[in-house]
Amino acid sequence: MMTKEQYIESLRKLNLNLYRFGQKVENVVDDPIVRPSLNSFAATYELAEDPQYEDLMTATSNLTGKKVNRFTHLHQSTDDLIRKVKMQRLLGQKTAACFQRCVGMDAANAVYSTTYETDEACGTTYFENFKKFWTMVQEEDLAVDGAMTDVKGDRGLSPSKQADPDLFLHVVERTADGVYVTGAKAHQTGYLNSHYVLVMPTISMRPGDEEYAISFACPTDAEGITLILGRQSCDTRKLEEYNDIDVGNKVYGGHEVLVIFDRVFIPNDMIFLNGETQFAGMMVERFAGYHRQSYGGCKVGVGDVLIGATALSVEMAGCAKASHVKDKIIEMTHLNETLYACGIACSSQGTQTKSGNYLIDLLLANVCKQNVTRFPYDIARLAQDLAGGLMVTQPSEADYRNPATHDYIEKYLKGVASVPTEDRMRVLRLIENMTMGTAAVGYLPESMHGAGSPQAQRIMIARQGNLEMKKQLAKAIARID
Ligand code: SF4
Ligand code: FE
Repeated sequence: MMTKEQYIESLRKLNLNLYRFGQKVENVVDDPIVRPSLNSFAATYELAEDPQYEDLMTATSNLTGKKVNRFTHLHQSTDDLIRKVKMQRLLGQKTAACFQRCVGMDAANAVYSTTYETDEACGTTYFENFKKFWTMVQEEDLAVDGAMTDVKGDRGLSPSKQADPDLFLHVVERTADGVYVTGAKAHQTGYLNSHYVLVMPTISMRPGDEEYAISFACPTDAEGITLILGRQSCDTRKLEEYNDIDVGNKVYGGHEVLVIFDRVFIPNDMIFLNGETQFAGMMVERFAGYHRQSYGGCKVGVGDVLIGATALSVEMAGCAKASHVKDKIIEMTHLNETLYACGIACSSQGTQTKSGNYLIDLLLANVCKQNVTRFPYDIARLAQDLAGGLMVTQPSEADYRNPATHDYIEKYLKGVASVPTEDRMRVLRLIENMTMGTAAVGYLPESMHGAGSPQAQRIMIARQGNLEMKKQLAKAIARID
């Protein structure tokens, strides 16, 4: 496995074609806007080096028999699924941000089982292709971005009916050696910190959408790929002269990019689906299921930090003992642990796929994610309630450092006498960061839309809810024939 330092150095060799704030970024690794997200990603390497986390952070590969980072593991049991969620909670606690590496792990597990079943039905060789690719990923401990979400254009039209054919990524030319693809993937978490991208279709496909039923992997810096960084609320605070207190979380963060493929060549042995429209839905459903499970880990770990910050803020203000304050902290904990319970539940009820790896219980994973679309918002509301208005009105770090205003801020922003004013400012900025700033992207709208928007889970809950069986139960009790 790679050390954290080896991982960071390996990223320097990539030649990413990235634009941000209107300019080409020449040094992505050291870019002040991108770097916090790299630090979060690097934590997945760093913690795997730490013996105390070995059980959570590493696993034994079914492909090679060797020890691998769990973020590259193909889950071999329900115990693996549970450890995955615990690992994600741990990383959320350590970074208070999105650490990005789960997407590739979830994509790999979905593609592994789907290629197996596609080959079985269609006589293709995608499973072998994928195993070869993923063995390399495990052996070299590579970082892989999983790319599903197309930009989608007119939501009322299927891929092949769009006015612009590129609004869903598709094959534009076939040769004996492979295919050329064009299109774009949106909201790509962790792309800039990854060596490879694993692309999947974004929705179930019908006959007629063959060119769009495409899954493959390629290097993140492949020829023809252009990247445009997404903005985050308060992102330019990272560029200010004083960028410690005001950023809230100086070391860690996340990022999303728009990834544009303009006639990118994909060789045959890196293709994992190519026109078998009937299997696009399976790949989508399984990836989404795994990522909906993931949120029952990562968001809970981030929630732990937010609950901790809120508890500190009320202590620093001297109101920690008020009964309604204590009750609100209890409510935050209850909500957060409910998410964790869902993450653990869908893992423990997982089952083996035909390919041998384990899939979560899809109904429970969708219930997990549906709760994630709500509870972090409730937790954030309670955090803002308890933190008070100073969270958004306190002066800047620059004013705090300026001798002309420092003493006034020191004096009038004081809470409990024994607590340094600067500590209080730091905690309030952390709460601001997590509920309104750069980290809120990951904690709130991503909880809403990541791994599918709320309605996507409701469709799955409707499908998996087994209403007929429940009607039979009622009929039996009511003595209806
Ligand atoms: Fe991992 Fe959570 Fe980020 Fe998804 S949102 S990549 S599950 S940390
Ligand atoms: Fe996500």
